[in-house]
Amino acid sequence: MDHAPTRLICPLTATSLEAMRAEMDAAAKLGADMVECRLDHLVEPPSAGQIEVLLASPALPVIATCRPTRQGGLYRCDESSRLAILQCAAASGADFIDVEDDVPDSDWPVGQIILSHHDFVGVPDDLDGIAARLERSRAVVNKVAFTAAGPEDALRALDLLRVCRKPTISLAMGECGLASRILARKFGAFGTFAALGEGAGSAPGQPTTKEMRHLYHWDRLGPATAVYGVIGCPVAHSMSPAIHNAAFEAAGLDAVYLPLRIEPGHDSFSRFMDAALARGWLGLRGLSVTIPHKENALAYVGPANCGDLAGTIGAINTVTVGADGRLRGDNTDYSAAIDALRSSMDIACADLAGRSVAVLGAGGASRAIVAALAHYGARVTIYNRTVRRGQELARDFGCKSAGLEAIGGLDAEIVINCTPLGMHPNMEASPLERIPKSVRVVFDTIYNPVRTRLLRAAEAEGCLCVSGLEMFVNQAVAQFEIWTARKAPRDLMRGVVAQRLAAGE
Ligand code: NAP
Repeated sequence: MDHAPTRLICPLTATSLEAMRAEMDAAAKLGADMVECRLDHLVEPPSAGQIEVLLASPALPVIATCRPTRQGGLYRCDESSRLAILQCAAASGADFIDVEDDVPDSDWPVGQIILSHHDFVGVPDDLDGIAARLERSRAVVNKVAFTAAGPEDALRALDLLRVCRKPTISLAMGECGLASRILARKFGAFGTFAALGEGAGSAPGQPTTKEMRHLYHWDRLGPATAVYGVIGCPVAHSMSPAIHNAAFEAAGLDAVYLPLRIEPGHDSFSRFMDAALARGWLGLRGLSVTIPHKENALAYVGPANCGDLAGTIGAINTVTVGADGRLRGDNTDYSAAIDALRSSMDIACADLAGRSVAVLGAGGASRAIVAALAHYGARVTIYNRTVRRGQELARDFGCKSAGLEAIGGLDAEIVINCTPLGMHPNMEASPLERIPKSVRVVFDTIYNPVRTRLLRAAEAEGCLCVSGLEMFVNQAVAQFEIWTARKAPRDLMRGVVAQRLAAGE
């Protein structure tokens, strides 16, 4: 049995021996525990002498791999020369040799063998049978890698870690499989792969070593780590993992927060939720939900199990999973927006009663904000490009509505932009050409950029300006407090988002 913590394995994919050797040193500096020399990536098949030089006094333990094209690798020459390269690597001191499970046992190099099975299309039908075959072999480490269509497939990879008795690498490739790579440590895998840098991975969906260490706090992960995540599509550029993982670390909580890409549709959403909740051992405790799944989340959790206004809004962005598996839903979007507005204006919610508000847009964000404004008695007019959609929203909450072309004549104290006009990368757009005289407060829900063209124009007119950054931070703060029953490190969370925005991430 292998009791070492799960190794962060950095695949080295340079095309020359000198560059691969330099990558080895770089991987050690980044904090990798092991490297995988992908000898199939070298432009020329290496000679015995070259392999010896490459593997002389390595900075880290080495896995030697020479993946053939039939198994998704780059090695094109004949099988006997490939096996000879691996034998040379073993003789030159490679700690482990990766051999594919279609190579007869009698042809294996002499050394510590990682027996690997890959599926670049999907999840093998006979996953359990494959794992059992690897277990029965004389290899010292099992490796199974397949392709995930949804994050529920990542959970299949974790299932294998729980049943295999030998040290095992089990992971789901592709963006949807990311959870299997990060949670490998929680479930005691032999190792997980993390790339040297952006674009340097050896398989789809590999995070970088830097992300593993600094975004997911790899060293802090263990068997008791609670699991949180954000469900959405797309989700790869979400700021939520950065903000929540930083908050968990600052609060000293044993928890990790993952991006979970789920394709649109209630079926995809339910498939993941059913799979995650059936695995109590996963330790799933909470989910943020973003476009396009907020309505699906409400339907799945059930309005009866959701906080006030969630049913009226028709969407939730927060799911809490109790230790007994019970679900609770909340919508922290509307309170986040209203808190951003009223704290900037230095008023209480009740002081919104009777104030005239123009809301631009009639989508999901608008619906949450209009529901809350109506709840507190504000007089709301919705301006939307698609007039019918604006009318429907206005009807649901007893407001007025008009087309976007009527916007120039608006007569309101507060303007709230809930359209993407002005959002990165179209930062020169604005929903309002000039700020009408009646307007005293402008709230732009866009947070990238923080100072939109609309806010700059409002500032020039002496209006009070509220940025979408405050709303974004507020909803994350509220989620943290719902999940942990602790006060959130707000300043730190705000700083993480501001820093990432400034860095253009
Ligand atoms: P959504 O459901 O897709 O709604 C988008 C709304 O904008 C619709 O009313 C749409 O009008 C209108 N719109 C889109 N493109 C337009 C254009 N070119 N010209 C005029 N109107 C246009 O999106 P959402 O979830 O409500 O998000 C809207 C914005 O809110 C986002 O862009 C984001 O910046 C912001 N937001 C911020 C936060 C935060 O935490 N700060 C959270 C959520 C959202 P039609 O009905 O005619 O299509």
